[in-house]
Amino acid sequence: MNMIILGPPGAGKGSQCERLVETYGLVQLSTGEMLRAEVKSGSKLGQTAKKLMDAGQLVRDDLIISMISNQFDQHRDAKGVILDGFPRTTAQAEALDVMLSEKGLTMDHVVQLEVCEDAIVERLSGRFSCANCGAGYHDSFSRPAEDGKCDKCGHTKFLRRSDDNPETVRSRLVSYREQSAPILPFYQDKGVLQSVGGMGGMDEVFDQIKEIVANG
Ligand code: AMP
Repeated sequence: MNMIILGPPGAGKGSQCERLVETYGLVQLSTGEMLRAEVKSGSKLGQTAKKLMDAGQLVRDDLIISMISNQFDQHRDAKGVILDGFPRTTAQAEALDVMLSEKGLTMDHVVQLEVCEDAIVERLSGRFSCANCGAGYHDSFSRPAEDGKCDKCGHTKFLRRSDDNPETVRSRLVSYREQSAPILPFYQDKGVLQSVGGMGGMDEVFDQIKEIVANG
């Protein structure tokens, strides 16, 4: 089973992907995570990407498309993949179609998480994650049981994304509206787009996604 999760920054795509990985054994392909790894490694791609990411702008389509294509090849034997943060432009969506047919794959579900934009700045500017295992937390909604200690692995260092500050979040929302939202009709026209309300609790949202999967 292959799946795409769409929605603006802060819609909860990453959290839902974690659950999809655990429940269905899918491999998560997150272009944002791949780019952050490139930034950390100091590669040429990482250096180019960092400037754009910090400004809340998108990285060039050709770079992203070849990164995703390599990942598909690396995970050829996986049960399926879940695409998180990709596609983000119409050119990426079209390239994905070509890539899938060349690799003999199909896209089974395209799920859009619908959220109210006003809530996004608060959601994103309060989030942080464990520096060791990546478990996600939030200042207001989901603090560790013991302050300063990760519930999952006990680690005591946490990280905040440099692009989760209010100014960059607003630019990321503009990029979403102008470049990413237009891909929704692309999938709607194909009759594969399904929408889920993303404002509820994480488990509630996940129940709706499970229902979509169960109904084929
Ligand atoms: P994310 O973790 O998905 O919120 O992505 C963080 C940042 O990485 C975005 O604001 C973009 O600068 C960049 N990025 C991630 N995925 C893509 C993509 N598919 N196309 C272009 N830029 C991307």
